[in-house]
Amino acid sequence: MRRWIIVLVVVALAISALFGALQLSNARTFRVLGDLVARVDTDRAVVALTFDDGPTTDYTQPVLDILTAHDIRATFFLTGRETAENPQLAKAIADEGHEIGNHSRSHNRMIFVSPGTVHEEIENTDAAIRATGYQGELHFRPPYGKKLVILPWYLAQNRAHHDHVGCGA
Ligand SMILES: [Zn+2]
Repeated sequence: MRRWIIVLVVVALAISALFGALQLSNARTFRVLGDLVARVDTDRAVVALTFDDGPTTDYTQPVLDILTAHDIRATFFLTGRETAENPQLAKAIADEGHEIGNHSRSHNRMIFVSPGTVHEEIENTDAAIRATGYQGELHFRPPYGKKLVILPWYLAQNRAHHDHVGCGA
């Protein structure tokens, strides 16, 4: 009986620790390390328009056409994989004066992964974005908004500004 109580307590602690980690990994304004951009103070009535994922042959050009027609600048958080697959579309985003951000190479969840994986996901994507000629600052937006310790640690070591609210998809 006593042994079962100990087992139950250990299981309950493990579940609550895991739940806490998952809550933290989804936090939009709290982080363990680094500089998180979730809002910018301004007295102008402005909206920051951001698009996640891509570039894709289905959606990127139509979105760019709409933005150009209305003279709107947005931020595109691109994946390294899709940027490498569609470099001409990534270049079109840069050429039209939009901001580009890093949304990882693979769009896998960036938690419970090694520092080497984080390095590869981020640097590979930066390189693919820079190959378009884009010269602006590169923010990072984690896939699914997921981050815990290694990703924020890596970003804190390697970037002046980083991180964002994270996409829901
Ligand atoms: Zn995404």
